[in-house]
Amino acid sequence: MTMQIIIFGAPGVGKGTQAKLIASKLNLAHISTGDILREAIKNETEMGIKAKEIVQSGGLVPDEIVGGIVKETLQEEKCKNGFILDGFPRTLKQAEILSKILSELNNERLFLIKLNAADEVIISRLSNRLVCSQCANILNKNDVTENFKCPSCGSINSYIKRKDDDEEVIKKRLEVYHETTAPVFDYYKNKAIVIEVDGTQAIEDVTKEILEKLKVN
Ligand code: AMP
Repeated sequence: MTMQIIIFGAPGVGKGTQAKLIASKLNLAHISTGDILREAIKNETEMGIKAKEIVQSGGLVPDEIVGGIVKETLQEEKCKNGFILDGFPRTLKQAEILSKILSELNNERLFLIKLNAADEVIISRLSNRLVCSQCANILNKNDVTENFKCPSCGSINSYIKRKDDDEEVIKKRLEVYHETTAPVFDYYKNKAIVIEVDGTQAIEDVTKEILEKLKVN
């Protein structure tokens, strides 16, 4: 049976890092609405131009826009083996949009992985985060040296700081998470198999625990 997974939690808790690892391990498509939006902003598409200011200031892009991205992407061939949704849904409305999309696709078992960490941990991680401008791989600033080669795509000196990983914007994103996104968790309590994992552990320990819990269920 294919797997449909939502990875949930505050910005910087490790959703992107874990989603990539789990997706490659389980042969699932990794769908990050944040990555898709940043790519659209970089390419100055119509959607990118609309989203740019919102994304860079830490607000939420309108539900219809992200809902449209997800609907289109989940219909692609690459998602047929299952997928892991990273950064969506972030509002109750988006959760409802997703339920509708999933009911029109093959109805598989839905998992929700919630990564937990205190705000202080998150603020420190986000302030030290760099991303590969070519493949969106995520690393800590302290691990990136001069003429650094991306371990994921091989690009040289490609690591940049995300515009929204600035101190003020980080605060805003956390506020948005607590006010608008965190309540979405309740929506899934009786709709998905919920797995909670301590996101402050080492990366490989988080992955291990997720994989173990996915198999148990
Ligand atoms: P992320 O890479 O998931 O941290 O997303 C970066 C930014 O993209 C967010 O702070 C939002 O501005 C925007 N974004 C990503 N996913 C969504 C979503 N599901 N709903 C609204 N905005 C989103």
